[in-house]
Amino acid sequence: MPAPVLTEARRLPEERRLRLTWSDHHVAEYPYDYLRGWCPCAGCQGHSGKIRYQPPAQPVTATTIKPVGNYAISIGWSDGHGTGIYRYDFLREICPCAECGG
Ligand SMILES: [Zn+2]
Ligand SMILES: [Zn+2]
Repeated sequence: MPAPVLTEARRLPEERRLRLTWSDHHVAEYPYDYLRGWCPCAGCQGHSGKIRYQPPAQPVTATTIKPVGNYAISIGWSDGHGTGIYRYDFLREICPCAECGG
């Protein structure tokens, strides 16, 4: 089975969540703070290798969502941070829905 690709990323401003829809019909909502805490960039993670959850200092809002090639999205945050590249496989790994056990 090919790896699922993201078909839609929709911001839900009231819920402060990002809804991701996948080519395998999986749909999940990621709270903004949760996603921000999982920012995989070196600035947030250092160079230890393993990506860890780093709770944001303050609540954030996703201000921009941009596709990166066919494998990732980059998310700009209201705290001014925007260097994180969220790969599809990584997003699926941290999927918070009940089905994925997140
Ligand atoms: Zn970061
Ligand atoms: Zn899921």
